[in-house]
Amino acid sequence: MANEKFVRVYESFDPEELKAHTIVIDELEGQCLNCKTLGINYLKNKVCPSCQNEFRYVATNARNRELIIKILGRIRKEGLSLKLVEKEDLDKALARDALSDLFRKS
Ligand SMILES: [Zn+2]
Repeated sequence: MANEKFVRVYESFDPEELKAHTIVIDELEGQCLNCKTLGINYLKNKVCPSCQNEFRYVATNARNRELIIKILGRIRKEGLSLKLVEKEDLDKALARDALSDLFRKS
């Protein structure tokens, strides 16, 4: 355990699933990606206080690796089952989805 390191793993997701269950955080507070409610503490709220969706994934705008490691450490320390999703991948997945929605409507 003491010698464990964080390694990024790729998984495939349905963008809708990600959108419904992700909280985007800065340091401690975050925004529910589903209903856009701000100021949610990801360590204390397992579900969104507004839309009641369960948080399964966390993403951050932080580009600083140290801060990301700190966030991962907190999640682990609190025994939360949140998975950290790469924000850039998340944005790309959602953008592609929004684009295909646009084509579906026209
Ligand atoms: Zn919400």
